[in-house]
Amino acid sequence: MRTRSQGGPVSNGRSEPRRPTVVVIGGGYAGTLAANRLTSVDDIDVVLINPRPHFVERIRLHQVIAGSGTADVGYDTLLHGRVRLMVATASRIDVAAGTVELAGGDHISYDYLVYAVGSRGRPLDVPGAREHGYIFAEWEDAQILREHLAAVAVSGVVTIVGGGSTGVEVSAELAESGRRVRLICAGEPAPTLSERGRRSTRRVLRRLGVEIHEQTCVTEVRRESVLVVDRDGVVTELPGVATVITAGFEVPDLARRSGLTTDDLGRLSTDETLTSVDDPRIVAAGDASAPSGHPLRMSCQAAEPLGAQSANTILSRIAGTVPTPLNQAFVGQNVSLGRRRATIQLSRLDDAPRRLVVSGRFGASIKEAICRGTLWAIRREARRPGSYTWLRGGDRAGVVGADTERR
Ligand SMILES: Cc1cc2nc3c(=O)[nH]c(=O)nc-3n(C[C@H](O)[C@H](O)[C@H](O)COP(=O)(O)OP(=O)(O)OC[C@H]3O[C@@H](n4cnc5c(N)ncnc54)[C@H](O)[C@@H]3O)c2cc1C
Repeated sequence: MRTRSQGGPVSNGRSEPRRPTVVVIGGGYAGTLAANRLTSVDDIDVVLINPRPHFVERIRLHQVIAGSGTADVGYDTLLHGRVRLMVATASRIDVAAGTVELAGGDHISYDYLVYAVGSRGRPLDVPGAREHGYIFAEWEDAQILREHLAAVAVSGVVTIVGGGSTGVEVSAELAESGRRVRLICAGEPAPTLSERGRRSTRRVLRRLGVEIHEQTCVTEVRRESVLVVDRDGVVTELPGVATVITAGFEVPDLARRSGLTTDDLGRLSTDETLTSVDDPRIVAAGDASAPSGHPLRMSCQAAEPLGAQSANTILSRIAGTVPTPLNQAFVGQNVSLGRRRATIQLSRLDDAPRRLVVSGRFGASIKEAICRGTLWAIRREARRPGSYTWLRGGDRAGVVGADTERR
């Protein structure tokens, strides 16, 4: 009979240590890095569950839509040889049994579990948004939007709803590719940047021909138009060939459905070692984690360090040592504005924007280097498990109130 321990080697009931199995749910930035790091110890089995046979570079999905880039990367180029990839969707975690149930009926047993299911686009809560609006924060949604745009007239206006980083990036990318773009912002574009960052971003959007509607809210999405109300209460119908919603992120409800404690959004509630408040065998990382009820900003900037720290916690438990608490700092926000420009907003370690902004072509080359760097880090961890390091010193008190907008 298999018995499970809350720390130290796993026993097979005959007092011989048995190889523990660590199951990682979600092969994004956090989960893939965690899986590679776990192989730094020889005598554990690592299984990565992901619904697709390839990794998705979500930070390039706006390029997929505009036709200026791709976002699928083979796991064979990213994973350590000892990580077993299982292409499947986890439908429930049976905490009492220590198993993950898979869509289709199978299940897999774990000794330790990394919960890294990420996030997805949040639909707008107005009439018609679900029927007629497009989201693209996941691979499959991005394919649907790309196909739709390929089928409609290039001269038709694409309406982007939401002025956060995702809305700004997709607006610029589409405008640079020759599309007519309208950006609807409840406030102003890129509100999380400093004043200089916002000014520079707005200038580039205008130069690219993006029609910006500030202080304007969408009240209804129709098949070929949106209804908006401006700050004076004037309602207007704006025609277009597609309405793209970038109103923020939500997370899969797997943890909640499995009876685990989550925050209001559904992120797994953990302590500062990323351990579930319900079960010491379960740790969380990335967008779907809520350490101490104060989640970090949803970003791959946080996801990779969190992935590494979640693996460290499990390795400590297996070794019978005390896991160290979360310690991760931010460096900035990077908003691409097409392929030739970007706004790089430097931040303090606690993620508050500083005055320093890098823009233009130099900004674009920094942004591209950062995008490549995310995969470089995962590959390096596959080659040399345990080698990944990250910037520390972020003031955890300073991230209180991190929201569901990203980056
Ligand atoms: C257009 C766009 C641009 C962005 N740009 C930036 C940027 O410039 N900088 C930045 O820091 N961040 C950026 N982000 C945010 C960043 O992509 C996310 O914060 C990051 O992907 C989070 O990593 P993760 O590993 O937590 O989750 P993800 O990368 O979302 O990976 C989660 C994985 O888990 C899988 N999964 C989900 N449910 C299940 C299940 N039940 N069973 C099995 N697998 C499951 C998912 O399919 C996915 O493969 C951007 C996001 C978008 C959409």
